[in-house]
Amino acid sequence: MDRRILAILAFTAACSSGAEHNANAAAKTDSAGGNVTSTAVAGPAGGTSSAGYTGTERGTLDQNLTGRIPVLEYHVIDGDKNSLYTRTVASYKADLDTAYKLGYRPITIAQMLDKDFRDVPPGMSPVVFVYDDASPSQFRYVEKDGKLEIDPTSGMGIWLDFAKSHPGWKNRGTYCLLNGAAAGHNFFGDNPKFDGQKKEWRFQKVKWLADNGFELCDHTLWHMKLSQYPDAAVQEQIMRNAMGIDSAVPGYKIRTMALPYGLWPKNRQLAWQGSWKDPKTGQEHSYNFQAVLEVAGGPTRSPYDPQFNPKSINRVQAVGDDIARTLTQLTTSKTRMVPRGKDQVAQ
Ligand SMILES: [Zn+2]
Repeated sequence: MDRRILAILAFTAACSSGAEHNANAAAKTDSAGGNVTSTAVAGPAGGTSSAGYTGTERGTLDQNLTGRIPVLEYHVIDGDKNSLYTRTVASYKADLDTAYKLGYRPITIAQMLDKDFRDVPPGMSPVVFVYDDASPSQFRYVEKDGKLEIDPTSGMGIWLDFAKSHPGWKNRGTYCLLNGAAAGHNFFGDNPKFDGQKKEWRFQKVKWLADNGFELCDHTLWHMKLSQYPDAAVQEQIMRNAMGIDSAVPGYKIRTMALPYGLWPKNRQLAWQGSWKDPKTGQEHSYNFQAVLEVAGGPTRSPYDPQFNPKSINRVQAVGDDIARTLTQLTTSKTRMVPRGKDQVAQ
């Protein structure tokens, strides 16, 4: 119990004060410079349709299978000032807008692993939006006339609103969940004191994500610093969160996990593969993920790059102008991953 409380305190402190090592890691991604003009690559409908892709949008970029893919990392979407763990609604909207205008279209980590680029129009590039820590700011309900609605001012509400006015912007993104952390970081809020969210809404939100095109990812039960615990505790922490996700979406196959604070367990492999015996039932439960997300490092390698390592996928944190700069820099340096039509076929 003591261990748990300590970890919760550490988690809360890190998330509110900003962890320096993370900030330093993020700084490595700021390699763009000079005057850069944004170029809209989304063109009018026309040209030959790629097999598997049914949309009318087209981009103008040349194929670049081994280019980089930006995997963006968000935490809290709220407040009136940007910080390491907080993105204002205005900045979040601006990020979506920048990605759209530059001809990036969202996919999930699972799609990236499968080289499934059918949601990316020809001549455009994939981008992955990842949301860590399951705070109410990312996905909030409001009760209206006895019915639950997604709060239009929450991250999900903003996303859905954006999609309505931006053709081709699909519901694709990866949510790295916690289901037992402090301060409402429990499947998007477990108490009215956290943005009015009720405990009984939690599973419904997680199920909604899975049913609507988003990917569910394991981020441990209460954001454990995996490097500081014995193997058994690491496995329990990851497995119990996976079991929580399974309770919300029975049978869901989790393929991605995100390391809290980017810290690896002493036994690295336990991040993606392990098991835990539930003392209550005596039953053994096991997990086996294909992807592990780091906390920073810049745009990640493409699955076509021989050096692509799905067990160490780099990300770009939503800090300052890093996202806009990264998306623009990949464009001007012609290092964006651009799939070919063939890959847009379902596999
Ligand atoms: Zn986290």
